[in-house]
Amino acid sequence: MSLTTRFAPSPTGYLHVGGARTALYSWLYAKKNGGDFILRIEDTDLERSTQASVDAIMDGMNWLNLEWTQGPFFQTHRFDRYKEVIAQLLESGNAYRCYCTPEEVEAMREAARESGDKEKYNGMWRERTDYPADKPFVIRFKNPLDGNVVIKDMVKGDITIANEELDDLIIARSDGTPTYNLTVVVDDWDMKVSHVVRGDDHISNTPRQINILKALGATVPEYAHIPMILGDDGKRLSKRHGAVSVMQYRDDGYLPEALLNYLVRLGWSHGDKEIFSREEMIELFDLNDCNRAASGFNTDKLIWVNQHYMKTMAPSEVAKHLAWHMAEQNINTDNGPALEEIVKVQADRVKTLKEMAQISRYFYEDFTELDATAVKKHLRPVVKEPLILVKAKLAALAQWSPELIHAAINDTATELEVGMGKVGMPLRVAATGGGNSPSLDVTLALLDKDKVLARIDQALVVVEARIANS
Ligand code: GLU
Repeated sequence: MSLTTRFAPSPTGYLHVGGARTALYSWLYAKKNGGDFILRIEDTDLERSTQASVDAIMDGMNWLNLEWTQGPFFQTHRFDRYKEVIAQLLESGNAYRCYCTPEEVEAMREAARESGDKEKYNGMWRERTDYPADKPFVIRFKNPLDGNVVIKDMVKGDITIANEELDDLIIARSDGTPTYNLTVVVDDWDMKVSHVVRGDDHISNTPRQINILKALGATVPEYAHIPMILGDDGKRLSKRHGAVSVMQYRDDGYLPEALLNYLVRLGWSHGDKEIFSREEMIELFDLNDCNRAASGFNTDKLIWVNQHYMKTMAPSEVAKHLAWHMAEQNINTDNGPALEEIVKVQADRVKTLKEMAQISRYFYEDFTELDATAVKKHLRPVVKEPLILVKAKLAALAQWSPELIHAAINDTATELEVGMGKVGMPLRVAATGGGNSPSLDVTLALLDKDKVLARIDQALVVVEARIANS
């Protein structure tokens, strides 16, 4: 039997990490089973849905490389079909017109509150046919009055709800437009969705949806309700906790592979394994193994995973993402080392790609400002001689390689009988503008020889000025 999952976001904002995790689990389950993964845009709330959100959701999915095999389908394109199904439910006696005024419905609620009963519609139009002319009406689903609905949830286990608890829900508003539960049911049915994977904030809708599906004679899909993601204060993750938008994580310098790996583990585990390649995720993931309890978002762990991927992924792959951050920070990388060389030397020095771009500017741009603290500490009058000598030795090198550069620096220290602190550090500040860089020989080798020599001259001007002032 073919398997189909779907991700069904409402386009009322960006793709957040909770949605991305739901999408990932749906995608993984379909992939694992050779099934289809549908993207369905639930845009029936015309006031809150925007094209910008649709774009943002797709950008997020594309960045994470969660490709859908069907869709995107838009619910707003399917109103005729919803009308058809509503008519079918009326026809078969599974739905009815309700002419209650808002005041009457409010009075029912009021009465329920007073008597301490559950607030629900009392079914007063369930069996009536004395329809008033020219009055607005909604259409309600005729929920079974007795018996139970059982959700066989792949994550939470069996959940039984008494039909008594459910009232006759509105499936079409007085303007004829369908409501959320109706559209989801029709789509899951028409799109042959076999597994509904979604956040457990939808679990209260599920028994209602199952009842409608049964009334339509449709196959009830399997359900997997994924527990929420919590912030560090134990409350549901939201903007208050910092970044929640997937694209914000891109902007902050995370690799999509790292975010996916982090998200797959946030709510699912396989022994104590932490790092999963895409292939491993597909092979090992199972909805049945998802956690029943909510998971807490932990940025430190995400950083750890990001560092792992920056260090272990093919540098040429990481470089593609670094290129985006370089452009974002207006660093023109046309002239200078290949970005994958930067990845190789900087990956274990940073937490994010954004930081990697920030600290790699000197590879591509000259500077006139040097880090004040580094200057104070390392460009002192005593370094004039070492800088002049090391410059001469570097200038004389037949080949611009880390090995020869290393030898030139060592020879300078030996010849002048000074420590490396008086050669290496001033040279580093000269070449990079600051006191932090990957190993000096490699850093200089990545920089153009002429550039290094010119930067030593620039540093010597600073040293001369200090001599003059001392
Ligand atoms: N559109 C709903 C949401 O964005 C999801 C509905 C579903 O997955 O069934 O929360």
